[in-house]
Amino acid sequence: MAVLDYYRILGVKPDCTLEEVRRRYRVLARQHHPDHNPDDPEAADRFRLIAAAFEAIQAARAQARAKGRSRRNAANYRQPRFTGKEEVFEEFFGICQDGSPLSWSPGADFRYDLEIPLVAAIKGVVSVIQVDQHPNCRPCGGTGLAAGTGYRECPECQGRGRRFGGPGLLRFGPVCQGCRGRGKIVAVPCRHCAGAGWRSQAKEYHLRIPPGTQDGARFRIMGEGGAGFLHGPRGNLLVVIHVAPHDFFTRVGNDIHCKVEVSFAEAARGCAIRIPTLDGYQWVDLPQGTQGGWSCRFIGAGAPGTPTQSPGDQVNEVIVTTPQNLSFQQRSLLRELDRLAPGQLDRAGHE
Ligand SMILES: [Zn+2]
Ligand SMILES: [Zn+2]
Repeated sequence: MAVLDYYRILGVKPDCTLEEVRRRYRVLARQHHPDHNPDDPEAADRFRLIAAAFEAIQAARAQARAKGRSRRNAANYRQPRFTGKEEVFEEFFGICQDGSPLSWSPGADFRYDLEIPLVAAIKGVVSVIQVDQHPNCRPCGGTGLAAGTGYRECPECQGRGRRFGGPGLLRFGPVCQGCRGRGKIVAVPCRHCAGAGWRSQAKEYHLRIPPGTQDGARFRIMGEGGAGFLHGPRGNLLVVIHVAPHDFFTRVGNDIHCKVEVSFAEAARGCAIRIPTLDGYQWVDLPQGTQGGWSCRFIGAGAPGTPTQSPGDQVNEVIVTTPQNLSFQQRSLLRELDRLAPGQLDRAGHE
């Protein structure tokens, strides 16, 4: 049937907007739904015809849009993920229509969870990932059909794409598993892909992760997901970044926090300590009598800034460790220190 006939079925002009088509479809679908016309045996046929017309118009519009854009951006364009069809079916049946008996459907989105070290996330890195791709089978052009053969009506659902379910004349049940809701099946499967229309193939991607990437960041690689059905567009590949916890660095906003342990003796007498940074080490002089919680900042040594955020610092906090398992001599020295300490404090008070 020509697309123009579908417009006639819905009673809309071919140049109207998709929103107008959708509105008209909702009105007609409600009016002719078999559940609303229990005494009219032809209502089911009319309803099917209306649904088919709406889907065909949507598909034609989407393909026209794709053509228009592919001229402008041949490399990147992909179809929008969701058409209005799902919403409408949800509205009528409280479920989502999976696939369609008449038209193409887009490929699935792939998700890849990638764990990278904290330092790599802050400094930026190129990660190589391998994703199992499902490219369209070339010999059958993604149709799954052996050369010179066609589809046939699905025997499990008689081409409806859904099974009967529940009471009522024509209640739509769950999606037919035999044809996955498409209403038709491959009669003679392509021998290269066993009728699936795609093959399994690992593909390598060099993913450039920019400096300052946060935990949970997402990168979308357009058109690198699953293959579409019947020349439908491929899905996208979504890479979700997980930043692995670091032994001594923690990221807070753009700042990097680092806890540095020093011994009781080092803190008391003061010393030079070596603090790890993202670029190596930096020496810091601890003053005499440093208390636990003493901190210092390396300006600009954190994560890089963005147009809206300033670059972070490295914030170092000193943790004074209390000695354990002391020898007899160490214990007696500490007792001696304890005995002297009150005197020192008194003298400091009188000075
Ligand atoms: Zn079926
Ligand atoms: Zn094939």
